[in-house]
Amino acid sequence: MPAKTWETDVLVIGCGIAGASAALEAAKSGMDVLVITKNSRAEESNTLYAQGGIVSLGPGDYPELLAEDITAAGDNINNPEAVELLSSEARQLVDSILIKELRIPFTHSTPERLDYAQEGGHSRRRILHVKDTTGKTIEERFVRALQKQKGVTLLTGHTAVDLLSLPHHSKNPIAYYRKPVCIGAYVLENATGKVKTVFARSTVMATGGCGALYLNTSNPRDAIGAGYAMAFRAAARLINMEYIQFHPTSLFHRDADSFLISEAVRGEGARLKNRDGRTFMERYSGRRDLAPRDEVTRAIYEEMTQTNSSYVLLDLASYARIDIKKRFPNIYRTCKTYGIDITREPIPVVPAAHYCCGGVQADLWGRTSLDGLYAVGEVSCTGLHGANRLASTSLLEGLVWGTKAGRHIAQQMLAKRSYRPSEIHPWYYPSNEEEIDPALVNQDWLSIRSTLWNYAGIIRTGKRLERAKADLEYLQHRIEKFYREAHMDQAVVSLRQGIQVALLITRAALSNPVSRGAHYRKD
Ligand SMILES: Cc1cc2nc3c(=O)[nH]c(=O)nc-3n(C[C@H](O)[C@H](O)[C@H](O)COP(=O)(O)OP(=O)(O)OC[C@H]3O[C@@H](n4cnc5c(N)ncnc54)[C@H](O)[C@@H]3O)c2cc1C
Repeated sequence: MPAKTWETDVLVIGCGIAGASAALEAAKSGMDVLVITKNSRAEESNTLYAQGGIVSLGPGDYPELLAEDITAAGDNINNPEAVELLSSEARQLVDSILIKELRIPFTHSTPERLDYAQEGGHSRRRILHVKDTTGKTIEERFVRALQKQKGVTLLTGHTAVDLLSLPHHSKNPIAYYRKPVCIGAYVLENATGKVKTVFARSTVMATGGCGALYLNTSNPRDAIGAGYAMAFRAAARLINMEYIQFHPTSLFHRDADSFLISEAVRGEGARLKNRDGRTFMERYSGRRDLAPRDEVTRAIYEEMTQTNSSYVLLDLASYARIDIKKRFPNIYRTCKTYGIDITREPIPVVPAAHYCCGGVQADLWGRTSLDGLYAVGEVSCTGLHGANRLASTSLLEGLVWGTKAGRHIAQQMLAKRSYRPSEIHPWYYPSNEEEIDPALVNQDWLSIRSTLWNYAGIIRTGKRLERAKADLEYLQHRIEKFYREAHMDQAVVSLRQGIQVALLITRAALSNPVSRGAHYRKD
């Protein structure tokens, strides 16, 4: 981005499945779209790591059945309109965009028939997959499509720092009499430390989730939830932030960094066993190993506590009636590199923070409470997931709401702007920029991650949450000061976003005494 300012019809922050879907759809209608991603590699995102697959409708399946399963997993506090939208659009959008347009080579069970897999919480086999690397294939094809699409500019290595909004960033006092509106974002060019002002008629927040704020996570380390923090500071409404879903099974190994063992493994018959080699899920749920993931997660947590162990075992080898290497090549290969042969022995696993069911409140078109701002994908909360997410619905959510937002933006002939770029404050750089000490940054991250894991994690109490709030508020005060005085750098920007989101989760968990879905209060 050469200039200090940039003007575009649409700014899309993030290019996982949600941002990419929105950008493509808007650009196909002739809009100028600027897509930014903080990563140097465009594909890097949570989408890239999705293994299990994407929900569609299998043979003998109906939108109503899918809707029932989503609502049961969400503990009946889902938004019925969002559930209906996703269930009714699933097959059509997967067919038209993923299969016909992007030509995703979904796995077939016979040359003519797609293979529909089953996962925990689903009453039917309805999950399309590309072996166990579905997200990688989808993300790579989306990025390629963005690079080819006329009207799209894709910039890697650019980090959104804050949303630009009126009247907040206006120099014009008259702006205070107008309705608040988002008009773009301040964007850091990672390589130079320079902050650019991007003006956009519509801004799409598609920054993904925040699993990496927890000590144990299935997410890549940079999934720190920047979008929640930016939207919060711009006074957009956020909801349901206490519903953090923990994936029951990530690989337990000293050298493994957040490697997920897909729930599809239990879908293919694998059973959980405690360290003594005994199955235990039948003592916790009528659906045994195929229970919704929050039940499985707490059961593992209990079992680990009772057997004083830091892991349990997932036994696929004794139960699978499939060709394990063929069905789960990635899991097989990765475990093998850590010396575990999943065709012969059980896999040691622990739960890990996986998905945020809450977020920036968005309607059926992805519109938020702040004019000009859309939120799509994991950063948004449409109410689809209620208190807990049904497996493999989030890629589909990104596809559905990304596409809907892109269409909505294209259909709206937005009113001419009632501001001039010259009315907006340019970025302020402090005169004596403090150098960044990585030891301090690392320690702050460790504090955030262990505080959330221990006090706002799988099992919560008022006491633990109060303690988390106090510790995090103190830390936020220090980080904010550091941010104001430091040299502009992605590390400091991320830290500031991370502590803000950690507090959003903690405060939401503290203010909700009712255990539901992914939010479990022991007191
Ligand atoms: C290991 C794993 C396995 C999963 N398996 C499945 C599955 O099988 N099926 C399923 O449906 N779901 C699965 N999920 C969940 C699913 O992958 C995510 O919910 C989904 O991909 C989120 O898509 P998204 O587009 O909202 O965000 P992401 O794909 O995370 O994309 C976020 C984008 O925002 C960018 N970004 C973030 N902050 C900034 C910033 N400040 N400035 C600029 N850019 C920024 C990132 O660089 C990235 O491009 C899995 C998740 C994980 C981690």
